[in-house]
Amino acid sequence: MNYKTPKGTKDILPSDSYIWQYVEDKAKTVFNNANYKEIRTPIFETTELFTRGVGDSTDIVNKEMYTFVQKERSLTLRPENTAGVVRAFIENGMHRYPSPVKLWYKGPMFRYERPQAGRQRQFHQLGVELFGIENASADAEVIQIAMKLLDELGLKNLSLEINNIGCPKCRNAYKESIKEAVSSRLLEFCTDCHLRFEKNPLRMLDCKNDKCKELFASTEIESVINSEFICEDCVKHFSELQEYLKVLNIDYKINKRLVRGLDYYNRTVFEITSTNLGAQNAVCGGGRYDPLVEMLGGPHTPAVGWAFGMERVISLLPALEEKPLDLFLVTNNTKKAFELAEKFRKQGISCDFDLANRKFQKQIEKASKCGAKFAVILGEDEISSGVMTLKNMQTGDQQKLPSFEDVIKAVSSPV
Ligand code: AMP
Repeated sequence: MNYKTPKGTKDILPSDSYIWQYVEDKAKTVFNNANYKEIRTPIFETTELFTRGVGDSTDIVNKEMYTFVQKERSLTLRPENTAGVVRAFIENGMHRYPSPVKLWYKGPMFRYERPQAGRQRQFHQLGVELFGIENASADAEVIQIAMKLLDELGLKNLSLEINNIGCPKCRNAYKESIKEAVSSRLLEFCTDCHLRFEKNPLRMLDCKNDKCKELFASTEIESVINSEFICEDCVKHFSELQEYLKVLNIDYKINKRLVRGLDYYNRTVFEITSTNLGAQNAVCGGGRYDPLVEMLGGPHTPAVGWAFGMERVISLLPALEEKPLDLFLVTNNTKKAFELAEKFRKQGISCDFDLANRKFQKQIEKASKCGAKFAVILGEDEISSGVMTLKNMQTGDQQKLPSFEDVIKAVSSPV
């Protein structure tokens, strides 16, 4: 039997996992510095959480969920994590925590999509959610953190697009105008758009179907999109956000067609794209979702957040060298090697040795193959005279050092 990873999933091998760790470490630092705390929620939740919390007009809920029934309960592998975090927020009474509650998460998500470059069925997201602040300062902060992290990771050619899709107060009229504008040609739209027309016509703007895009380019619909439909409060929120972004020196473009895939967004939506990616050019997407906490059974709590796709970010990273092993112990005395390796590791020096106790020459070759910076050679001579031979694996230079501390000093100083 020839077992393979299921379609749309990938192993992350040691040749790549150090890059994942690099991204996660950088993210942890950026999040901790801004006082965001990590939250870890289950990988599966009850299906209803997603049908309600993501929205039943979305592709995610309609076509992409991995759902299974266990003892008559329908469960779903999380296709995104905002719904799970909101469920945890409510269930654990986090609305009673001092406001704002600032959270971050990372982990695998599952969507039954057609796999292609930049699109997998199991992929990983890193995200933040900020609860409790209605003011646009919260939107600005989460955007700032996304831009800061992507910048620290060395990503170039990114562009931030923002939009304000209104609130329940003003959006209904906008939805109706869109419906009116498209209704005479509705039959020409794709079948997904027919469903969106009924459930959330705003999402028709997001359709990737070429024919639908063409229809939306017609002047009648264009004028609806460009109309100033949002209410005074939403206009104020949007202009405040832009003022903050200007103060923060964050470049942005307004894209009136930007609506984002999920149903629960209101006011701010944003997306960060890269010109260095192919068709799947979205790196990060997010927005404000003030109604969601209440919709899922909690008290009214404004909230805003984003998620980025780790695979896509990693594919955009500049070349990164793996941190080499500090030293490899070359000895035929395995007990001594165990003892010494532990001493080095306690000093923060990464250290390995040959568990198979091969010949010295083989061990030196192994030290070189695993990219160690130094080898410490401990033969019979060295053991009897109480010294260690330190070999610089790059230059080949060797020196005899009288004490453990001398080795630590030599290994710790820059080569
Ligand atoms: P979304 O939750 O759809 O707003 O997606 C947020 C981010 O997750 C996107 O900008 C992508 O970077 C990433 N993403 C979404 N779906 C996939 C997928 N199927 N495979 C890889 N990355 C994805």
